[in-house]
Formats: sequence, C-alpha cells, structure tokens
Amino acid sequence: MGLKEALDRGFHVLESGGSSLDAVEIAISALEDNPLFNAGRGSVYTKDEKQEMDASIMNGKDQDAGAVASVSRVKNPIKLARYIMEHTKHVLMAGQGAEKIAKQGKLELVDPSYFYSEEKLKRVRKQKAKEIGTVGALAMDKFGNIAAGTSTGGMTNKLPGRIGDSPIIGAGTWAQNNVCGVSGTGHGEYFIRYNVAREICARMEYLGLSVGESTSQVIGQLTTMGVNGGVIVLDKNGKISMEFNTDGMARAYRNSKGEEMVAIYK
Ligand code: ASP
Repeated sequence: MGLKEALDRGFHVLESGGSSLDAVEIAISALEDNPLFNAGRGSVYTKDEKQEMDASIMNGKDQDAGAVASVSRVKNPIKLARYIMEHTKHVLMAGQGAEKIAKQGKLELVDPSYFYSEEKLKRVRKQKAKEIGTVGALAMDKFGNIAAGTSTGGMTNKLPGRIGDSPIIGAGTWAQNNVCGVSGTGHGEYFIRYNVAREICARMEYLGLSVGESTSQVIGQLTTMGVNGGVIVLDKNGKISMEFNTDGMARAYRNSKGEEMVAIYK
C-alpha cells in the first residue's frame, strides 16, 4: 500500500539523521504522487470539475509555518508550502500568486490533466458531498524537533474558491516542540471553527492531559456535534494517538524501537 512506502521514505530520512521537516515533506510528497489519496495527483473535484489543492507544513522548533491554498497546477503542494515558509515573508499564499512563487522556486508545475481521474469526476457528478482521504504526516527527529504537515484536494463538490482547514495553521496542522504535533482530516469548516489541531495541543500544554486523553476529548466533541473527522497526534515523548469517528482512516507509524503499525479500520 502507498502508505507503507511513504512511511519508509519518511523514516529513512530520520534514520539517516535528517530533519523531521524533511521527513514530513518526503512522506507527504509520496502520498501526493499516489492517485489513491485525496491530495496532489488524486485530488477530488470542485463543483466546477477542477482541482484546487491546499497544504501546510509547520516546524515545531520555532513555530515557523508555510501554507498554500487553491492551487491547480502545482504537482506537490506540500513542497510549495515549505518553499513559502523558507523563502517568503508570508505564511499562507493562494491561487495564481502561489503558483508564481512555485515557478520562481523551480517547483514542478503540471498541466491540470495530470490530476485527471474519471472515477473522481463521476463522483462529483453524482454530487456526493463528503470524502475523507486527506494526507498528513508527523515526525520527530533525533534532536527532538517535531514537524507536521497536511495536504488535500479538499471536499468533493466544494465551491470553487473554498478553502478548508488543511492550510490553516492551528486548524488542520500544528507543531510545537515539547508539546505536540497534529495533522487532521475531516469536515474542514468545523476544524477551522474549533481550531482543532491547536486545541488538542493546548489541552496538553495547559491542562497537562496525555496525548490520548486530549485527542479523545476533542474527537469526542466532534462526534457529539455530528462532525466527521480524524487526527494523528505525536507528543514530545514520541507517543502517538490516531483517532477518528468515521469507518476508517488509513494510518501508519514507526518508531526507533522498530515498532510499526499500518491500518485502515478501527
Ligand atoms: N479537511 C479537508 C477539507 O475540509 C477534507 C478532508 O480531510 O477530507 O478540505
């Protein structure tokens, strides 16, 4: 499965002494290149039958962040998010302005036909509203730095111009050394309104909750409100929590002790 390949690539970076930021970028790029996931190549269609992708990346060391929204020609939105973080004064850039920066940074731009999928077109034509398949990754390197990233095509049948939680720092992505890293998937409007990623870390930071307790509380609240969602969370000790209130969420992890898990259903 593509998930294992992404895990291998990301973990290889960490094993070779690389940074958590590189590991997150490489793992997410692999998922963006795989048409099975709703990000990059496999992005779902808007109501106008186009793809508009969102992504973000955050460095827990200094809370630096980069994000991109509504891009249609960038092969790997996560790479552009990182480029924006490292080479511009801004955090979040959208649309054509963002694509211009991608060109400047010599990042790969592709013809929109690269993202074509007959199956996904059929789905948007049936107006099936929701779909979960956003990709995310978290990593902690040997220096204890936590990084987080998220990338998505958004929600099937979304209005052109709609931006979800994935490029919103604090909503879909959060990284803060000595506290936690989070990447989320689900109904983005609610993740924005409840600042889900930051909320999970804030409860750990201020209430002293464990990663499992904090994640369960916040996912529990989403469930109570009837909101679909899931998150992956990593704490400062390398402990993880991966919770969702949908039927499944493809997920995987590996740690330096060699413990590994790849799963979809509960
Ligand atoms: N959270 C994404 C969005 O609202 C969609 C998803 O995760 O499925 O854009």
